[in-house]
Amino acid sequence: MSTTLAEKVWADHLVRKGSDGAPDLLYIDLMLMHEVTSPQAFEGLRLAGRKPRHVDQLIATEDHNTPTVDIDRPNPDETSALQLTTLERNCKEFGVRLHPLGDADQGVVHAFAPMLGLTQPGMTIVCGDSHTSTHGAFGALAFGIGTSEVEHVMATQTLSLKPFKTMAVNIEGELPQGVTAKDIILAIIAKIGTGGGQGYVIEYRGAAIEKLSMDARMTICNMSIEAGARAGMIAPDEVTFEYLKGRPHAPEGEMWDKAVAYWKTLRTDDDAVFDKEVTLDVADLEPYVTWGTNPGQGAPIGANVPEPESIADETARNAAERAIEYMGLKPGTPIKDIAVDTVFIGSCTNGRLEDLRVAASIMKGHHKADSIHRVLVVPASSRVRLQAEKEGLDRIFKDFGAEWRNAGCSMCLGMNPDKMVAHERSISTSNRNFEGRQGKGSRTHLASPAVAAATAIRGTISSPADL
Ligand code: SF4
Repeated sequence: MSTTLAEKVWADHLVRKGSDGAPDLLYIDLMLMHEVTSPQAFEGLRLAGRKPRHVDQLIATEDHNTPTVDIDRPNPDETSALQLTTLERNCKEFGVRLHPLGDADQGVVHAFAPMLGLTQPGMTIVCGDSHTSTHGAFGALAFGIGTSEVEHVMATQTLSLKPFKTMAVNIEGELPQGVTAKDIILAIIAKIGTGGGQGYVIEYRGAAIEKLSMDARMTICNMSIEAGARAGMIAPDEVTFEYLKGRPHAPEGEMWDKAVAYWKTLRTDDDAVFDKEVTLDVADLEPYVTWGTNPGQGAPIGANVPEPESIADETARNAAERAIEYMGLKPGTPIKDIAVDTVFIGSCTNGRLEDLRVAASIMKGHHKADSIHRVLVVPASSRVRLQAEKEGLDRIFKDFGAEWRNAGCSMCLGMNPDKMVAHERSISTSNRNFEGRQGKGSRTHLASPAVAAATAIRGTISSPADL
């Protein structure tokens, strides 16, 4: 029977097929952990007197609660400090490998693992974090799970699940200059809505996807969650193999050849049928920016903030009205006229090396606009930071007037010292723009690193073409 990529990976991990509507039991190859969603799972294991079933298939890092400056000093936030020391204690007690703050491999959970070659095609990967979908860029079936499921995986290395539906998102056409993976995914979410992918694993396919680097593919799969999907995937190809070769956890020698031979089988059969298909032609795509308070409330940068009365659907109209009010905007305002206070370049969506290179190439020789309060550049992992410094990108950022930070989730969410205050407005390369996401009352516009860098130069939302 012809199958899709997701169905192939599922079948290869099936421990037991559920009968009479019962869920299947899937083997899990790798579970990633961080300080926020692991404490209850460790506690559950402790209370049950259990040990992890395969401790070498669990790996943890510190990211959400970590400060990105003065990392050698005690954490200024009591709750954050407790979360981090609890993770350290738990990992020590249960023998789980941890890359803590200050370690060369520490970083945002979805950034450090691919860099180590831990994320590989055809794997099942879970984490108590929704953006686990990022790892699908390698052709892995990767998705976020709840705390009790984290405990279940620790104890059994398996998970009970009902099969997901499958959706193909075909990205066709040649991507115009200055338009990036972030613009593609924001355009998809604007097209299908934040619930459009609910219950599905999305497979991104097509000529435009095949031309993307691994960093760009991770950006796309990362935001599958913002379209409501359980996971996003891209079939592995030469770009994937090239990225993985020589990484610390990639197979070597004969094992590498065997692995590549298997990875090449991980493609959707020509006549396989998806439950749903969507196509986006990117030939005329402009950079995308969100104007509202969910990632689907986005528009091309040359558009205006919508007039709610022009929206036919009542629910969408009401949501737009509320969002425009929260964002402190006037309907009909050109998006390019919106002035921001803060620029955040980082996160598991766009804090990778390629993102920093793009931002640096635009900022080079410029200085941030006087009206911009701060520009935070936060590498997604310590390895990204080290490589960026080797290339002199840190110098460019500092000369520009930006703050060059240590790796972490940082201003992606208001859970560490990098917060915004009420009514402060940012352009952010992260993935969520919900009310208060970057701090109570904060206002977030999602965009690509290229748009964030151009905006930092001009002070108003801008694309590199506006410079
Ligand atoms: S960078 Fe943001 S989205 Fe990514 S794991 Fe951290 S908090 Fe979550």
